[in-house]
Amino acid sequence: MSVEPSINPNDALRVEVLSEALPYIQRFCGRRVVIKYGGAAMVREDLRDAVFRDVALLASVGVEPVVVHGGGPEINQWLSRLSIEPVFQEGLRVTDPDTMDVVEMVLVGRVNKQIVNGLNRVGGRAVGLSGADGGLVRARVHGDGSLGLVGDVAQVDPAVIVPLLEQGYIPVISSVAPNQEGQPYNINADTVAGELAAALGAEKLILLTDTPGILRDREDSASLIQQLTLSQARDLIDEGIVAGGMVPKTQCCIRALAQGVHAAHILDGRVPHALLLEVFTNSGIGTMVLGSSRA
Ligand code: ADP
Ligand code: MG
Repeated sequence: MSVEPSINPNDALRVEVLSEALPYIQRFCGRRVVIKYGGAAMVREDLRDAVFRDVALLASVGVEPVVVHGGGPEINQWLSRLSIEPVFQEGLRVTDPDTMDVVEMVLVGRVNKQIVNGLNRVGGRAVGLSGADGGLVRARVHGDGSLGLVGDVAQVDPAVIVPLLEQGYIPVISSVAPNQEGQPYNINADTVAGELAAALGAEKLILLTDTPGILRDREDSASLIQQLTLSQARDLIDEGIVAGGMVPKTQCCIRALAQGVHAAHILDGRVPHALLLEVFTNSGIGTMVLGSSRA
């Protein structure tokens, strides 16, 4: 007489969902995914934990995640404690030498270590670096220098990251980097993520932010643009539909794709497990920008 084992329906669902993830795991195993971490996903504790778990999960199934972070809200808190007024132009923080000191202390000293600790707490093996470490990122002044110590990425040398990825570490990069003379510059974290994705030959660039993605009408979250080609993305900037902090995001997607990254995504970090939804399901969320040959 055979006995039918009684399987809990919740368990059955759980293994079914896991099993459905198999093709995605196989597709992305050994591939690099660069994630820009910021916004609400960084501020709200429940979302923060979900992001840490998602990144640790990606790493444990063989995906090679690299985290690049900003730290806007925390920088502003510390500036206000020191009575320094934050100023933004075209989505970039105007950075005088006093502001730069705060940016560097907060991003490299505090935010970077909070993320490393958070990832390690959920079983990841994270290592924190700034653009200075191993000569990872070289900065040059942005534009005509009128924004102060705001930098662009002059050069990326990912040599320090590659052995970390090969050994299963999760690199966590803060977006501060020196110029040729060793002067630290504040670089938009989206920009660093895009250039790093290109230099690493990443499969995906994922930017977590506080909107559903690129909206045709900024006030209307139903106007989400789900898919864009490179040239359509350029047009949205020229037409002013993409503005403010969305400009460096869209530009870095364009640059990363032009340099061989396969897909770039702008996702709503307020959605729990946005990262897993993007990587492990077919539906995808947010805005996906595709290189013209793939559109
Ligand atoms: P993050 O901290 O994630 O870098 P930012 O504030 O720098 O976020 O950039 C996202 C912001 O860009 C949005 O909150 C929104 O105010 C602005 N934005 C400008 N144009 C658009 C657009 N077309 N669609 C969505 N957001 C836009
Ligand atoms: Mg921004």
